[in-house]
Amino acid sequence: MVLSRDASDTDVSVHSTFASRYVRSSLPRYRMPEKSIPKEAAYQIINDELMLDGNPRLNLASFVTTWMERECEKLIMASINKNYVDMDEYPVTTELQNRCVNMIAHLFHAPLGESETAVGVGTVGSSEAIMLAGLAFKRKWQNRRKAEGKPFDKPNIVTGANVQVCWEKFARYFEVELKEVKLREGYYVMDPEQAVAMVDENTICVAAILGSTLNGEFEDVKRINDLLEEKNKETGWETAIHVDAASGGFIAPFLYPELEWDFRLPWVKSINVSGHKYGLVYPGIGHRLVRLARQGRPAGRPRLPHQLPRHRPAHLHAQLLQGGTRRSWRTARRMPW
Ligand SMILES: *Cc1c(COP(=O)(O)O)cnc(C)c1O
Repeated sequence: MVLSRDASDTDVSVHSTFASRYVRSSLPRYRMPEKSIPKEAAYQIINDELMLDGNPRLNLASFVTTWMERECEKLIMASINKNYVDMDEYPVTTELQNRCVNMIAHLFHAPLGESETAVGVGTVGSSEAIMLAGLAFKRKWQNRRKAEGKPFDKPNIVTGANVQVCWEKFARYFEVELKEVKLREGYYVMDPEQAVAMVDENTICVAAILGSTLNGEFEDVKRINDLLEEKNKETGWETAIHVDAASGGFIAPFLYPELEWDFRLPWVKSINVSGHKYGLVYPGIGHRLVRLARQGRPAGRPRLPHQLPRHRPAHLHAQLLQGGTRRSWRTARRMPW
């Protein structure tokens, strides 16, 4: 305001926003204005424009959390100026994220000891979690095909036609063919038999939904797991399952604890869940959880992938893209990038 000659605190018009000259013309839309306006007037005008948005509390359609306790809001506001991806600068925030990851991993029956650290990451909603998961499956499949000397340029992913739009985005952004199982009259989720029949040597994974966006129905992840088990045995492939538990991940463990849909099933390798849906947290938070790759190694020494650069902020995501490991997660926290 030092350079502004337009308004002063003594200007009476500042204190009666709607009688002031500042509301006479609309705010500029394309270019930065030549002249400033007082912060009170700017606040009022923007606030009034925002009234034309929908009212979040009346939005029941997207399952996104629209109310939290006052204490949560205070904590959020107290941290709003933290660039929390800078884990070096904000290690306590990182630690809180890690605790969430651990708790959710245990909730989803990740094969971990009582005080073992899980592998996972907080993301911007399930959408980012799904991008990361899809990419990890694609890389894994590519590496396997390369090692076998086979072509690796036609990856596909099998889903139901009821998938959430972010899977279509994933397929388009990362050049993976989306093979959708058609829905039929009276059955509005992915049919396990048809899905597994569509799996071929180029399938990076089957994406099952726990809580279909269309009607909330859970897909039969256990049946998909069992059918894949057979098919993998026959073919020698290692086609795995990703569970999109954006909506159902915080429902099933509490309402249907006996339902096996998570890491209890051996072919479920990764899961996403939206914290900002039934995790009851404001947008936008999601989580991606990953099963550890431990086979053939002593307990506690999981496989550490090395293909991606480690001395960058992207290190953490890079590790998780590759499937992630418990050690990489710990290393990442100590890493001075
Ligand atoms: C909401 C939803 C997503 C996307 O999740 P965001 O957290 O909104 O990014 C993906 N899959 C399903 C099944 C969903 O319901």
